[in-house]
Amino acid sequence: MTSILNADLHCHSVVSDGTLTPEELAARAANNGVELWALTDHDEIGGQHRAAAAARAQGMKYLTGAEISITFAGQTVHIVGLGFDPDDTRMQQGLYQTRGGRGQRAMAMSDSLAAVGIRGAYEGALQHAGNPELVSRTHFARFLVEAGICRDTNEVFRKYLTEGKPGFVPHRWATLRDAVGWIVDAGGVAVIAHPARYSFSANEEYALFSEFKAHGGQAVEVVTGSHTAAEYVKYADMAREFGLAASRGSDFHSPDESRTDLGALPYLPGGLTPVWELLAGRIQ
Ligand code: AMP
Ligand code: MN
Ligand code: MN
Ligand code: MN
Repeated sequence: MTSILNADLHCHSVVSDGTLTPEELAARAANNGVELWALTDHDEIGGQHRAAAAARAQGMKYLTGAEISITFAGQTVHIVGLGFDPDDTRMQQGLYQTRGGRGQRAMAMSDSLAAVGIRGAYEGALQHAGNPELVSRTHFARFLVEAGICRDTNEVFRKYLTEGKPGFVPHRWATLRDAVGWIVDAGGVAVIAHPARYSFSANEEYALFSEFKAHGGQAVEVVTGSHTAAEYVKYADMAREFGLAASRGSDFHSPDESRTDLGALPYLPGGLTPVWELLAGRIQ
């Protein structure tokens, strides 16, 4: 397969912090011309069988997916897994452990918001969560908008939910080695998600790419809803430098919040190995 393929290999459903069901996402993706799709919920693969069936019903090809939260050099980084066996026990256990701290973290976030006068945030966020095991900052953001405290979720993140702000609670996620290992051992390909979103120094970013590769990681998101056109070029160069394949995904969460719709991004730049070339045998 060539790089001229409408692949969307990064998005979220109600199983994590999206607002559409896997079936609604599949219909929207197909309607937007997506040919190869993956649902990549945060730290959770409970939607995979539904998503694969919905893709089939819509005539799209499908790859299993997940977006795993890890901690690297003091920051939260996201590693997308594609094409792994969704019934793999170690992968399921690893994700279960990764989700584990979210309940306590959510209560601590709620306490720290209460300290600046915002009450009931835990219960409010839970109302927005489709999956009680997966309360994320996004659900808090939706609650704060609903409560009239901010105009939109971007404003909530800016004022409350990012490092140094009152609702932010630091958290230690999985390790890079573990997340890449779970994906690779389950027959999948590991992908560094939206690398431009992190605030690493050049040295830290180099370390992330080098260690990721050393642990068996094989790809990086080049074209994502989180990157500018200049960042497509920068990470296409990084992919070539590190011998990584390239992925493409909108990171769509919601029709009301996401800037980039499913399947609406530019194609991958030429001269790169598309990640789906590595996964030919895993496409359903
Ligand atoms: P969590 O895994 O609970 O830390 O939540 C992370 C999620 O919050 C990401 O996957 C995004 O969906 C969302 N998010 C993070 N930063 C921002 C931001 N600056 N603006 C809007 N959404 C954000
Ligand atoms: Mn998210
Ligand atoms: Mn992410
Ligand atoms: Mn994402």
